[in-house]
Amino acid sequence: MTTTTTPTTFPSNRAVSPGISLKLGIALFVGFVCLCLSAVSVEQIFETRLKVLHEALRETQNLARSLALHADGTISTADAVLIGLRDRVATDGTGAKALDQLKMQMRVQAEADPSLHGLFVIDENGRWLANTSAGTSPDVNYADRDFFIHARDHLDNAPFIGAPVRSRTDGSWLLTISRRLSHPDGSFAGVVLASISMDLFQQFYGRFDVGPHGSIALANDDGVLIVRHPYEEANIGLDISHGGFFSTANVMDQAGSVEFKSVLDREVRMASFERVKRYHVVVVVTHQKDDVLAAWRGRSQAALTLLCLVIVLVTALGYHLCSQVDERSKAEAQYRLLAENASDAIICVNSEGERSYVSPSFSAMTGWTPAELAGMRRHDMVFTDDQAAIDDVLGGLDAGDASPTCRYRHFTKGRGLIWVEMRARAAAAKRDGVLDYILNIRDISTQKLAEEELAEANAELSAMTLSDALTGISNRRNFDQTLRREWRRAMRNARPLALLMIDADHFKAYNDRYGHVLGDECLKLIAQLLAAGVRRAGDVVARYGGEEFAAILPDLTAEKAAIVAERMRMSLVEAAIAHDGNTDGIVTVSIGVASLVPGRGLEPRELIALADEALYRAKEDGRNRVVVVEPIREVRTMLAAG
Ligand code: GH3
Ligand code: MG
Ligand code: MG
Repeated sequence: MTTTTTPTTFPSNRAVSPGISLKLGIALFVGFVCLCLSAVSVEQIFETRLKVLHEALRETQNLARSLALHADGTISTADAVLIGLRDRVATDGTGAKALDQLKMQMRVQAEADPSLHGLFVIDENGRWLANTSAGTSPDVNYADRDFFIHARDHLDNAPFIGAPVRSRTDGSWLLTISRRLSHPDGSFAGVVLASISMDLFQQFYGRFDVGPHGSIALANDDGVLIVRHPYEEANIGLDISHGGFFSTANVMDQAGSVEFKSVLDREVRMASFERVKRYHVVVVVTHQKDDVLAAWRGRSQAALTLLCLVIVLVTALGYHLCSQVDERSKAEAQYRLLAENASDAIICVNSEGERSYVSPSFSAMTGWTPAELAGMRRHDMVFTDDQAAIDDVLGGLDAGDASPTCRYRHFTKGRGLIWVEMRARAAAAKRDGVLDYILNIRDISTQKLAEEELAEANAELSAMTLSDALTGISNRRNFDQTLRREWRRAMRNARPLALLMIDADHFKAYNDRYGHVLGDECLKLIAQLLAAGVRRAGDVVARYGGEEFAAILPDLTAEKAAIVAERMRMSLVEAAIAHDGNTDGIVTVSIGVASLVPGRGLEPRELIALADEALYRAKEDGRNRVVVVEPIREVRTMLAAG
C-alpha cells in the first residue's frame, strides 16, 4: 500500500483453501507411483517366469535330443548284429555245422559289444537254435513271447522292440529287439533276438541332472515304459498310454514339448520328447514345474516384499505430506480468518513496492474497492505532508528497527482524510531474494479526535487549576474562591476578614528598563517574598493580575493586617532588588489594607474595593507604603457615595 512508486497489483484473496486440491494431487501422485512400481515389478516377475520356463524347456529339449541319439545308437548297434545274423541264417541255413559257426559268430559279437546282454536264434516253433546265454535250458520255449508273436504275425522286415522282459538267466531287466526270420518262400522261420541290459540305460540316464523331481524315460510308441530315471522297478513295463504325457503330447511327431500331469506322481511336469522313429521309441525328459519355478518363486517373493515396503513407504510419505498440507491449510485458514476479520488492515508489500496481499479490511477502511486499489500508488493515498513519516518508518526497518510505527493522514473515498497508525515489520525470510514488509494499518481517527478533545480538556483543566503559572502562588481563580469561602466563614463566625491589595511600584518602568523576561523573574521574586510574609495556615497570597497581588488574612483586624502588610513591604525593601526606574532605586510595593466583619447586605467585592482604595491612597501618598482603610467608615462612605 504505502511504499510503491510504480503501479502495483492487488491479488484477489483466494476464498478456497488450496489444501484440498493439493492433497488430491499428492494422493493421485502416490497412487500413480505405486501403480507404476507394481506394474513394472509384476511385469518383471512374469517375464522372469517365462524366461525360467523357457530355459528349462530348452534344456529338456537338448537333453531329449541327445538321449534319443544315444537310444538310436544303442539299439541300431544291436539291430545291425541281428541283421547280420538273419542274413547268415538265410544264407547258411540252420544245419548243425551252420549253427556251430553261427554260435561262434554270436559269441564273438556279444563279447565285442558290452551293451548286448544276449543273442538268440529261435526257430518257428519257439525253440532256440543258438544263443549266447550259457545254461539256457534246451526246453525253454519262446513261442508265447510278444516278439515271437509279432514276428510270426507280421510279414515286414522291420525290427521290433518288445516290452521289457526279465532275463530268465540272471533276472535282470532287458530290452529286446528282434527281427523275423523267413523261409525262402517267405513263410515264418523264426526270430533273431538281441537283448540289451536296461542297466546300461539306467546308469547312463542317471548321469544327468534333471532336478530333484525331474525324470528321463524311454518308452515305446504304445506308451509302455521301458526305462525311467529315477529307477523304480514297478515302473518298468508299465502302460502309461492313458493320461499324462501320452494323452497330452502327440508322440507321432518327431519332437515336441508339453506340460502335463504325471500319471505316476500327479505332479505337473514340463516335458520335451524326441522320437526314434525307426525303432518306435520315444525319449521323454521332464522337469517338475515346481522345481523349475522354486528359485523364481523365492526371488519373486523377495521382490514383492520389497515392492510392498516401497509402497508402504511411499504411501506413508504421501500421508505425511497430506497431513502437513492439512496443518498448513488450517494454519493458513486461521491466519486468513484473523487477517480478514481483523479491523486492522494488513498489507504485505515487498521492498520493490509490490503488494502481494491486502486484507479486505483495507477496502472497508478506505472505501476503495480492491480493483480501484490495484491501480493506486502510495502517493495517491497518503497525504503529501506525511509521506516523510512513512519513509522514516521504512528507513527504520532497513536500519534494523523491529517494528517502527508512524501516524499519518490517509485519503479515503468519501470520508476525506482519516488518521491512521501504521506498524511495519519485516518478514522473517526473503521471497525470491526480495524482502517482504508486513504493514499493520489501523484507523485511529476516532482515537485522534478523542486525543484532541482530551488536549482541549487538559488545557481547560490547566486554566482551571489554582496556581499561577508564572509565580507558582495562588492564581486569581483560587483567590476568588478563597475569598468567597473565607467571607462566608467570617460571616458565620462574625469574625473580621482582612484583605491586602499589593501593587509593584513603577513596574512598567522596570519592564522598560530590564525587559519582560527579567520583569517576569522579578515578579516571581516579589511573589515569593510576599508569600513568605504570611505565617498562618489559612492565609492566602495570590497573584491578582499583572503586577498586582492580594493577600487574604482571615480573622485579622485592619491593624493586625497592617503589621503583616508592613512586614511584606519591608521584606521587599530588604531584598533591595535593583530598579532604576523606581524612586528609591529598588523594587518596592504599595499595599492597601482593609478589614471588615462581613454582614448581611455586604459582598466580597466591597472588601476588595476598600483595599483597592487604600492601595490607591498608598500610591498617591508616594508609594512604598502601607495604607489602612477604616472599613466601616469607608464602606459607609462608599455606600453613601455610590
Ligand atoms: P504604578 O506604580 O502606578 O503602579 O506604576 P506601574 O508602572 O506599576 O503601573 P501601570 O499600571 O502603569 O503598569 C503596570 C505594568 O506592569 C505594566 C506591565 O508592563 C507590567 N506588568 C503587568 N503584568 C506583568 C507581567 O506579568 N510581567 C511583566 N514583566 N510585567 C507585567
Ligand atoms: Mg498596577
Ligand atoms: Mg504598579
